[in-house]
Amino acid sequence: MNAGTLELSILIIFISLCAGSFLNVVIYRLPRGQSVVWPGSYCPRCGHGLGILDLIPLFSYIILGGKCRYCQQTIARQYPLVELGTALAFYLIYWQRGFGIEMIAGWLLFSFLLTAALIDVAAAIIPDWITFPGMAAGILLAPYTIGWQDALLGMFFLGGFFLLVLLLSRGGMGGGDVKLAGLIGSFCGLRGALLVFLLSSLSGGVWALYLLLVQGANGKTAVRFGPFLSGAAFLVWLVGEELWYYLWF
Ligand SMILES: [Zn+2]
Repeated sequence: MNAGTLELSILIIFISLCAGSFLNVVIYRLPRGQSVVWPGSYCPRCGHGLGILDLIPLFSYIILGGKCRYCQQTIARQYPLVELGTALAFYLIYWQRGFGIEMIAGWLLFSFLLTAALIDVAAAIIPDWITFPGMAAGILLAPYTIGWQDALLGMFFLGGFFLLVLLLSRGGMGGGDVKLAGLIGSFCGLRGALLVFLLSSLSGGVWALYLLLVQGANGKTAVRFGPFLSGAAFLVWLVGEELWYYLWF
């Protein structure tokens, strides 16, 4: 690793930790109908405004021993995990695709997927504020990545398929899942969308079976599908072509 790549690596880790910190704010505030830019960050338990020492991604959590400086209550582990996860994912994307527009596309896709999955888990919704800008980003970036025809095909195939499921199952799936599927298709293209459909149905199906058989859920329990779609999409965006290869041999 020469000096230039080392500096670039440090810059990328710095940007990704800040991005993770911003995603934490979005994940917490969006389902509560709060603005993501105003007011400044505050402790969700005591409401005390946070100073610069509380806001250094990851390091503040470690320095403060996982506790709020003002009320001494524990900070949810999700905050440092989101920052760490974002840093790892952003770096992995940079390492795999190099520095450029594909990297930016990957960073955006990961941010949309993580936010959608965690809000779905916490609040059982996937807000339009994530899915619509996400679809727009996928289509706008497509001429520089997979081509806009493939992005549109992927979007209409995956979104259309889950729309059909939504209409047939009458509530077994949310409208947010349909729009998230469209977003994913616009980044992954048609081939990617097919794989995402396969992997998310499989993993979501196994999870539904587990809930039914082990947790004693009944047929009316809604399965939150967002995390399965998101996980499958990130995997396919990263190594979809390799997965195709192993599927056929
Ligand atoms: Zn506090």
